[in-house]
Amino acid sequence: MSIDIQKIRNDFPVLSQEIYNGKPLVYLDNAATTQRPVQVEDLVASYYNQGTGNIHRASHYLADKCTAAYEATRDRICEFLNAQKREEIILTKGTTDSVNLVAYSFGERFVEAGDEVIVSEMEHHSNIVPWQLMCQRRGATLKMLPMNDAGELLVDQLDELITDKTKIISVTYISNVLGTVNPVKEIIAKAHAKNVAVMIDAAQAVQHLEVDVQDLDCDFLAFSGHKIYGPTGVGALYGKEKWLNEMPPYQGGGEMIDYVKFDGSTFNVLPYKFEAGTPNIIGVIGLGEAIKYVQEIGLQAIYDYELELLKYTEEQLRKVEGIRIIGEAQNKASVISFLHDKAHPYDLGMLLDKLGIAIRTGRHCADPIADHYGITGTARASVAFYNTFEEIDLFIKAMNRVVGMF
Ligand code: PMP
Repeated sequence: MSIDIQKIRNDFPVLSQEIYNGKPLVYLDNAATTQRPVQVEDLVASYYNQGTGNIHRASHYLADKCTAAYEATRDRICEFLNAQKREEIILTKGTTDSVNLVAYSFGERFVEAGDEVIVSEMEHHSNIVPWQLMCQRRGATLKMLPMNDAGELLVDQLDELITDKTKIISVTYISNVLGTVNPVKEIIAKAHAKNVAVMIDAAQAVQHLEVDVQDLDCDFLAFSGHKIYGPTGVGALYGKEKWLNEMPPYQGGGEMIDYVKFDGSTFNVLPYKFEAGTPNIIGVIGLGEAIKYVQEIGLQAIYDYELELLKYTEEQLRKVEGIRIIGEAQNKASVISFLHDKAHPYDLGMLLDKLGIAIRTGRHCADPIADHYGITGTARASVAFYNTFEEIDLFIKAMNRVVGMF
């Protein structure tokens, strides 16, 4: 199956706009956030225009309609990730929220003083700091799985890093800086051989390749709606029921309650135990539509097309004088970080922007990666299935013009 790029472009009219007096917008910052198709925008607008009811418990038309649509997103995510049960899908504010939930709640229940948690050197801050906070709280130690200069994790080192004190490993599926696709299945198998749980940060994965939580056998997996063509402020956590059942609630209030008494309250069953307060109802409904959109195109078709686009972009970028690519892993997806020998990344980003090209510059919320390479940051282009080869040509033309100024 291949991609019908013309239809896709029609579904994303924002991509056809001109900015700065007639420069076609070339959006290559998809790792930061993605645009939404009209199908998502229209559905979200219809829920605002036609009225909202608060979900669960209420007994009227709008509440029932919103509850059904909200819960339908849970079913869709369950199918999308191939989870065993809808109870294993917790709707959250996004990846950061999902990681914080697990770090807190798993930590409270399963991590004792002297225990160990492992994250990798290439993690986003959202998959480091929640674990750091938990380790401080529980008196545990955070250990780091290093990478080589190509940006590949040294997975063999897990054999030594994992000890009988290790409780959980949390690792990104795809690096938001290097584009590395990590061998998460191998990592999970190694961890499980020693009874260690594994959380996968799939913020950069679910929109680019098929993710099957049963096949991976991960214990937890997190992703964000806004990186998969859905609204901001929503996302999901997959967790194996056996863990979620044992973990205490993360936040108190609203839907997570069974019964409240002053001498102690009881809590709702899964998945509601972890969904305190009125959620982003319409955002969640929009996320369901975004996932449906991606499913209709097909993750395999998306993967194949994006890989071609990524290879083409890298090839062309290497021809630009003075360019160094950061992240040379064998298995990459969507993301290219680069430096120029004279131009600072910030200057590249600013000048490209004036030519209509949107990339990202900086440390990309992953300071340890910058420290690994001894650099202050990178320029980063990240492609999505709605980008075209013509857009890459515009990017490269703009790059040549910009670096020519230095
Ligand atoms: N992990 C990775 C790998 C990411 O790329 C991001 C977003 N840049 C996050 C976590 C955090 O996602 P969010 O801000 O949507 O919670």
